[in-house]
Amino acid sequence: MSGLGKGVTASSVARLIQDRGYSVSCLKIDPYVNVDAGTMRPTEHGEVFVTEDGGEIDQDLGNYERFLNKDHKKQHNLTTGKIYQKLIKKERRGDFLGKTVQIIPHLTNEIINYIEETGEKEDFLVIEIGGTVGDYENIPFLEAARQMRLENNPKDVIYVHVTYLPILKAIGEQKTKPTQHSVKELRAQGIIPDFIIGRSEQPLDKPRKEKIALFCDAEPNKIISAPNVDNIYKIPGKFKQQELGKKILNQADVEPEENGFQTWREMVQKMERAKRKQEEVKIALVGKYISSGDFSVRDSYISITEAIKHAAGELETNYSIEWIDSTNPEKAKKEVEKMDAVIIPGGFGTSGIEGKIETIKKCREDNIPFLGLCLGLQLAIVEHARNQVGLKKAHSTEINEETPHPVIDLLEEQREIEKKGNTMRLGAYSAVLKEGTKTRELYGKEKIKERHRHRYEVNPKYHEKLEKESLVLSGKSPDGKLVEFIERKDHPYFIATQAHPEFKSRPEEPHPLFKGLVEQGKKRREE
Ligand code: GLN
Repeated sequence: MSGLGKGVTASSVARLIQDRGYSVSCLKIDPYVNVDAGTMRPTEHGEVFVTEDGGEIDQDLGNYERFLNKDHKKQHNLTTGKIYQKLIKKERRGDFLGKTVQIIPHLTNEIINYIEETGEKEDFLVIEIGGTVGDYENIPFLEAARQMRLENNPKDVIYVHVTYLPILKAIGEQKTKPTQHSVKELRAQGIIPDFIIGRSEQPLDKPRKEKIALFCDAEPNKIISAPNVDNIYKIPGKFKQQELGKKILNQADVEPEENGFQTWREMVQKMERAKRKQEEVKIALVGKYISSGDFSVRDSYISITEAIKHAAGELETNYSIEWIDSTNPEKAKKEVEKMDAVIIPGGFGTSGIEGKIETIKKCREDNIPFLGLCLGLQLAIVEHARNQVGLKKAHSTEINEETPHPVIDLLEEQREIEKKGNTMRLGAYSAVLKEGTKTRELYGKEKIKERHRHRYEVNPKYHEKLEKESLVLSGKSPDGKLVEFIERKDHPYFIATQAHPEFKSRPEEPHPLFKGLVEQGKKRREE
């Protein structure tokens, strides 16, 4: 079922394979009918992750990149919508020469081709099939998986089934029954899993492993325990203890080579040491999805919370994340006062905007370390224009079309676009960082690339007017037309970017802007 940690499981399996010297990527299959995640609300589906090549993708792709420390492409996410779109295009073109086009074999063939193309250049491709066995939606994908084993050397296709073992409170016992039934369901679709990964609050003990093995017709040493952990980056280590990577490679009949797990282990140890530090840096995330329940909140900003975790781990700093709801400006302002650092994340639409602007003002005036991401930069510009440049009614036209000072606006060429899907400025773009700025110092180089996902820009007509009262446009697009970074000279840490640097932070390579923020937050705490 969803939320079980299939993404982390797939990423961890891939990482273990990679650490033994093989090239590997992951492919996420989302059985929903949307073509991609771009038009979905974060509360619906979690965060929309953006790849270098501009894919608006399932958030699991973020885990793949973070665990493998490797870029993925939009190709690495397949949905029902995408595969039908391909198939129907072929049908319209007349490619099927009058034949009846069917789910099996035409759709399943299309899926298999897609998988083969995606994995072409790799030694291994780890494919995560979303949803639950027994759902209508993932039947064609499971069928494709079945056919792939049939049509290839069986050693080349390995099935790993992730199941849930609930512990019933009333009797305190871990139950294998749901696992037995889901395996039964999977077998009815023609797939006998080679490995069963049992997710549970507690580790699986020997009797339970034996029971699953017996009822599910699997080898006992291929039943893997995946208990809850307080840090997802510990999962590869848990699997490694059970030799999961080695066993998978053995089944694939390849020689597991040299082991490169050391850097990963050291990174996790650093995170552990960080958590034991007494002093906790309070980092606020100010957003509007906050009130729709804890889970959706955390999922909507997962790349940001992970980026903070990476930075704090590297700096061996303990931290807490404080969620501040921007729909109540007065309350938000009060809460921000107690913070050591503040992040205004990306966002769309009009709610909670004034609360965010108030928060930014507070950070500017009280020297609270501040990092603005995308919408965060746009609102920092609005705040600056209103309160420091004297354009009292300045705004972004996304929020107020009638504003006399549209400091954030659509570019001419974007005005024509009416479609909502895939029409934003998406993916990696270069920026040139100004010499002598904090931004340049943090990145350590002049030319950098960050990922984008937005429609609006700082209005080029206002660039000159804005460089006032310590505000510096510290990074621009190579042609100088677009503002990519801003900062303040008279502030310990006030940086904002039009991009989404959180997508490029990796546990083994924390992002400089997040590192800078945590470092300054720590200083403030100490002071
Ligand atoms: N809504 C803003 C825009 O479209 C900001 C988007 C974002 O924060 N990702 O430009």
